[in-house]
Amino acid sequence: MSYLNKVLSKDCVDFIDDNHIENIIKNTKEDPAKVRKIIAKSMRKEPLEVEETAVLLAAESPELVEEIFEAARKLKRDVYGNRIVLFAPLYIGNFCVNDCKYCAFRRSMRSTVRKTLNKSETVEQVEALEDKGHKRLILVFGEHPDYSADFIAETTKLVYSVKSGNGEIRRVNINAAPLDAEGFKKVKEAGIGTYQIFQETYHHETYAKMHPKNTHKSDYLWRLDGLSRAFEAGCDDMGIGALFGLYDWRFEVLSLVTHSRHLQNKYGVGPHTISFPRIRPAHGMEINEDYLVNDDQFKRLVAILRLSVPYAGLILTARETPEIRREVLEFGVSQIDAGTRIELAGYKKGEEEQKQELKKEQFQLGDLRSLDDVMYELMENDYIPSFCTSCYRLGRTGEHFMEYAIPGFIERFCTPNALMTLAEYLEDYSSDKTKKAGQELIKRELDKIKDDEKRKKLEERLDLIYHGKRDLYY
Ligand code: SF4
Repeated sequence: MSYLNKVLSKDCVDFIDDNHIENIIKNTKEDPAKVRKIIAKSMRKEPLEVEETAVLLAAESPELVEEIFEAARKLKRDVYGNRIVLFAPLYIGNFCVNDCKYCAFRRSMRSTVRKTLNKSETVEQVEALEDKGHKRLILVFGEHPDYSADFIAETTKLVYSVKSGNGEIRRVNINAAPLDAEGFKKVKEAGIGTYQIFQETYHHETYAKMHPKNTHKSDYLWRLDGLSRAFEAGCDDMGIGALFGLYDWRFEVLSLVTHSRHLQNKYGVGPHTISFPRIRPAHGMEINEDYLVNDDQFKRLVAILRLSVPYAGLILTARETPEIRREVLEFGVSQIDAGTRIELAGYKKGEEEQKQELKKEQFQLGDLRSLDDVMYELMENDYIPSFCTSCYRLGRTGEHFMEYAIPGFIERFCTPNALMTLAEYLEDYSSDKTKKAGQELIKRELDKIKDDEKRKKLEERLDLIYHGKRDLYY
């Protein structure tokens, strides 16, 4: 790790106490009265304590589980309305010095096809994504000296510089290895949005088994402390996550809540997003299947995370099948990817084949549908697909975002902004069937706006977009 200055954040502690969490799980029994009291707290949009989340996890009876589902549905609507934010991942390089047992990119997997996009390939990929209508990307990097903070910063600037017709990327998030303080400063200056670091598993013993000793990633605390260093270096929006299926899902949920509270207590702002990818088949993967999470458990973990961290965005990726994504969306998901390809240089201009070559990819996807097909289905289910980036671009990030995310922020900003980004998509990129569904949705949403002046203003802006204006937002 010669290229990293391994200084931890101020007062850095390992805040994950395995025994404490295991005892909470063991000693918390189903208690309907407590469940209802805790749901009431969530409905007031108050983040839950770890012990309170454990009460929701201990609820097993179908009626109580349904009450939790119903509460999550309601909270989702109260805090996020019916909009779903869309993004796409763009893999930049899959060389890696680590040897994570569950990953096709691990260094000992010699048969994996390795590649790093060069500048012109990166531009081509971004143009292909812009020509489909994407405005928000997450750039994904293995851990390797070639993918230094300077390289990540340069790549971020390059992505922002690519314009194709009316296409542009307005927010670049990063999923990469933990950097040192200097590194986080550099990527912040390059204009990144969220920096995502997944702990993969918070269970120390399992973490050691999955991340061999002589690899960078074996350093549990360096990784756990990553986003604290990012906050102290001036980054605003953090993304945490766990790879479900490596250890007991309840342990990981309680650890994600512990991590959220740790950041909130230490920096006054919790995670911007939480991700909960489930393990998927991968080239040469070696894991024991004891902890695989079934669909019922997966729905419960999403609903319980929704109730536990009301202000954090929940990201559901194309790892999951369309059927599961359709079902789980209502439990509190606020962001999804669509039209996803995770092969290096996998995005093609025009129609893409719906197939994968696992030797070239990190894991098997569950949903290979195009962006247009996903948007059509969202609108058929009365969701507003959104490419909004206004909070990030207006500096409503970190603690400023949290302020707004609570008191009814939706009507004034989120829904109108979502509708304007949708109108852009319908004008520039959509198929006829999606355009028709989109125009009907916009009309329905305009009819919901009771304030005449507000509706008129939005109609004027939508009209400007239909006449060629772009990038309008509140
Ligand atoms: S999970 Fe990430 S760090 Fe681990 S081997 Fe794969 S790409 Fe490398």
